[in-house]
Amino acid sequence: MPAIALSQLAISVRRERLSRPEQTLVPILLLLYLALAEVYATPVVLSFRPGLEPACLHCKEAGKSHVLSQIQIESGKTINKVFASLTPNEYGRVAPNLEAIHLAQGQLLYRAGDACRSAWFLLSGLVSVAAVTEKGETMDVGMIGVEGTAGILAALEDWRAPFTATVEIGGDALQISAHALRDEFNQNGQLHNTFLRYTAFIYQQIAQSALCSRFHHAEQRLCRFLLAIADRVESHTIPLSHERLSQMIGAQRPRVTMVLDALETQKHIRLARGKISILDREGVAAHACDCYRVIQAAMAHYLAHL
Ligand SMILES: [Zn+2]
Repeated sequence: MPAIALSQLAISVRRERLSRPEQTLVPILLLLYLALAEVYATPVVLSFRPGLEPACLHCKEAGKSHVLSQIQIESGKTINKVFASLTPNEYGRVAPNLEAIHLAQGQLLYRAGDACRSAWFLLSGLVSVAAVTEKGETMDVGMIGVEGTAGILAALEDWRAPFTATVEIGGDALQISAHALRDEFNQNGQLHNTFLRYTAFIYQQIAQSALCSRFHHAEQRLCRFLLAIADRVESHTIPLSHERLSQMIGAQRPRVTMVLDALETQKHIRLARGKISILDREGVAAHACDCYRVIQAAMAHYLAHL
């Protein structure tokens, strides 16, 4: 997996928008940033703290806020795996077309049937992919985290989204227009290859979800989701309500609450308002269906071939 040539990352900061202390920090932080990239040759990502205004890595639009204090330099943290698979040349072509944004929890990225106008390389957080009935009933069929790209079908000309994508857990992302994504995809380079592999992984998620909803009961599905979400966000705490979890696994909320209460009684999890903490991962895994292991193995296979 080639390390990204971070020195190619173009950063545009309007000095007039910065306070005096921030103006002093600009060159220091940028030099430190480039030094880290050169010395460690490991993924380094500029990210933005949750709750702050979105800002650009390479802004071409007037009126965008560029506040340097929003930028945090983090060395060695996970970067989007699709993005990290790009060669330096590809990165150089793609980087000027990216906008770093914060995706808020609950934000709708696109509905089923929408034209695919943008895609998002996730840097943190979690996006759920849901199938929707004509009556508006939904069931989650996949998750997208730092391993993937939301809106991948934007790489295809005149394509409409087959699913609805919603931000389940807020985080940062690099947004790219469909046009810019298609330009790079049509180069038939590493992005093209990675997208094909990622699409295969998404297919497997969807197939396994169909099987899971047919053969596995709510407790198994719920435990699978808890483990999978914890893996994706790399945290034992999952900021989701019972209501949202019931929608994700396609079960009634009282049923979900009953299962969660039982898991808490067994001290596998701890419940708090709007969040669930996994205390005993093995205990939760013992109640999950095998779909968790299957999808986990599929993701490991996908990542190993980037
Ligand atoms: Zn299952």
